[in-house]
Amino acid sequence: MADPTRKSNLHWWIIGGMVVGAIWGTLLHEAYYSEFYANAVTDTHGNVVNDGILTKAVLKDIEGQFRETAFGSLAYGLAGLFMNLLKMIVLPLFFTSLVAGIVGLGDFRRLGKIGGRTALWYLTTTLLAILTGLLLVNLISPGEGVSLDVPFSSEKPAELTGWGVITGMVPTNVVDAAAQGKLLPLIFFAICFGVFLLKTETEAAKTVRSFFQGFFDVMMKLTGFIIALAPIGIAALIAKLLATTGPDVFESLAGYAITVAVALGIHFFLVLPGLVYVRTKRNPYRIMRQMSPALLTAFSTASSASTLPVTLERIEHGVGVSPRISSFVLPLGATVNMDGTALYECVATLFVAQVFATTNPDYVLTFGNQMTIVGLALLVSIGAAGIPHAGLVMMPIIFAAVGLPFEMTALLWAVDRPLDMCRTATNVWSDTLATVYVAHQEGEISQPEEESE
Ligand code: ASP
Repeated sequence: MADPTRKSNLHWWIIGGMVVGAIWGTLLHEAYYSEFYANAVTDTHGNVVNDGILTKAVLKDIEGQFRETAFGSLAYGLAGLFMNLLKMIVLPLFFTSLVAGIVGLGDFRRLGKIGGRTALWYLTTTLLAILTGLLLVNLISPGEGVSLDVPFSSEKPAELTGWGVITGMVPTNVVDAAAQGKLLPLIFFAICFGVFLLKTETEAAKTVRSFFQGFFDVMMKLTGFIIALAPIGIAALIAKLLATTGPDVFESLAGYAITVAVALGIHFFLVLPGLVYVRTKRNPYRIMRQMSPALLTAFSTASSASTLPVTLERIEHGVGVSPRISSFVLPLGATVNMDGTALYECVATLFVAQVFATTNPDYVLTFGNQMTIVGLALLVSIGAAGIPHAGLVMMPIIFAAVGLPFEMTALLWAVDRPLDMCRTATNVWSDTLATVYVAHQEGEISQPEEESE
């Protein structure tokens, strides 16, 4: 019988889990959804509120009612447990991985070279993703002629200026940044710490180096254990999603959702693999198969940060990349390199602009506006956390810059989860290929242990 702890079988177990989750979720949906939906959109006097639109608040209400059913609460419970286990290891893994990665690289010249290569690759692929989105949304124009009532949302645009992003990267209090799960400031501290640990030649500092290496090794072992639970966790996550997603959700937003999905598909299956093939001559689809547990976890959890443990484990044991490279390049990527998110920001903003222009013919999106969207989509993707819906929460920043009412982000909530799953898988795939590229350049990929079994 197949053993889920044998890593090469894991993706089959996860796919099996997804099928079980899909059946489980569909049954829950059939049994309860219409009743819960009706409860959520009517007030105590039986009047329809919210114009019957599936906003964030309505979704929350429906979810609350599902939690009160036996099979619904099992799905929520198991999904919550799996997510918590992943989140539990993210912070220590993230920090020790970066420090051990920097120390493992051994010298500053090498660190600089690898850092430069990584940054260039991340920037190039994110820009390519945005351009793919821009092209498709202009070609398909999913928002033209769509007239929708604009539901109200309380999401206010956060401030995002060039300096704001830069100063925000430096933590005033490391413990506070860690407690709030702010990974960008933590990266900054981890890099500073790693670099100066490398510079400090005392005996005591050597002990600190091996402490971090040992800590990282323990985290990776723990990761292996949590990953074996992925099929159950993912079944519950999928059940939870399908129970609360009505098929009618897609109706008015179908054009938009399809545009995002097709653009992500082009980037995922053609652009990124093409780029890595041209630069390394390695078969990207084989890497895709080796990485499939990580890609499926990203898809199911919609969080690249929570997926980091699986991504690290797979790239080392499945693809054969040395931990010297992966433990530096991957944690960086999980936070700053988000191709899928950047593409989505661009398509979603242009879609909303097209809808807005349908009812406000005076509104024109100039070429300059489109370029602003490209620049901000890049910044937002760097600043967004690797957690579910982070991309949508940051959207008002772009809306404000191009004169769209930020209330219109409420429109996008109804279909955000499935799109988030697709963009997160794209984010993790892009981090993976960046790591493969850098490791290839450095001669740091060997025959993975599973292939030689
Ligand atoms: N969920 C995405 C991620 O973790 C971020 C986003 O919302 O786009 O990569």
